[in-house]
Amino acid sequence: MKILRTPKAMAAWSQRLRREGVTIGFVPTMGALHDGHRALIRAARLQCDALVVSIFLNPTQFAPTEDLAKYPRPIVNDRALCRAEGVDICFEPPVKAMYPDGFETVVTVPGIAQRWEGEIRPHHFAGVATVVTKLFGMVRPDVAVFGQKDFQQAALIRRVIEDLSLGVTLIVHPTVREQDGLAMSSRNVYLSASDRVLALVLYKSLLAGQRAVREGITDGKRISSIMRETVEQQAPTTIDYLVACDPKTLEPWNGTTSRVVLLGAMRLGSVRLIDNLVVPISKRPARTRRR
Ligand code: AMP
Repeated sequence: MKILRTPKAMAAWSQRLRREGVTIGFVPTMGALHDGHRALIRAARLQCDALVVSIFLNPTQFAPTEDLAKYPRPIVNDRALCRAEGVDICFEPPVKAMYPDGFETVVTVPGIAQRWEGEIRPHHFAGVATVVTKLFGMVRPDVAVFGQKDFQQAALIRRVIEDLSLGVTLIVHPTVREQDGLAMSSRNVYLSASDRVLALVLYKSLLAGQRAVREGITDGKRISSIMRETVEQQAPTTIDYLVACDPKTLEPWNGTTSRVVLLGAMRLGSVRLIDNLVVPISKRPARTRRR
């Protein structure tokens, strides 16, 4: 595995391989890799000849009040995981190389970025869309794999790829969970032992929402209250949002689509957790379904 640090070296490598007809897979990350990232890397590996993983803790997607400074950076372990998974290039650009003096272009996706995560973290998605567009320009991947864990982010990237004709095939990999169901996240290491137990309530609330959908409830607000009640009964957390949405538009669900996505985010102490579940809608009413 080669470690590349400059956009120029990354672009040169990619150009050479593309000329040889090699297909390139790409998994962008912020490091502190876990089994969720590993699953994305394995999925990408199956889709391409050469595989690039970027490790870049992108400052522009964090607000000054957020956890950038204390975000874990176990770079030696990250490289070992990449090496073990047969990654060809670990791309680790320094901040200065990504945002040199004079940098000013920003990619914004006003529709998708305005709700949910976007409301809580107003500059976050512009940071994400801009850095991913830049990384795509350097890596020039055929295929990029993102996690369903960040559902809104994946929807945003799909929009950017289409709107800017980037020619990248997007694969969204299902969320990888701990044995008890908690979605894996680089931030989970900051949960105290007691908060680690409470953290599961987010997934439990999504399961309660899923049950409600499967029972035939099509009122998004009602599903949202069921999810909220589950959290409020079980843990002293701050709920950022718990909502039922149209998976395509991320607008509140009107009960008519063939799938619904339940999106949730909450804070436990200083740790922010996000998760989601996509639920297909059964055509038959719940009562006849059981027979
Ligand atoms: P991050 O390093 O947190 O920016 O994540 C890099 C990529 O890994 C993103 O596409 C995330 O959605 C994805 N990812 C993070 N956690 C998980 C997980 N538990 N399961 C699947 N994908 C994940």
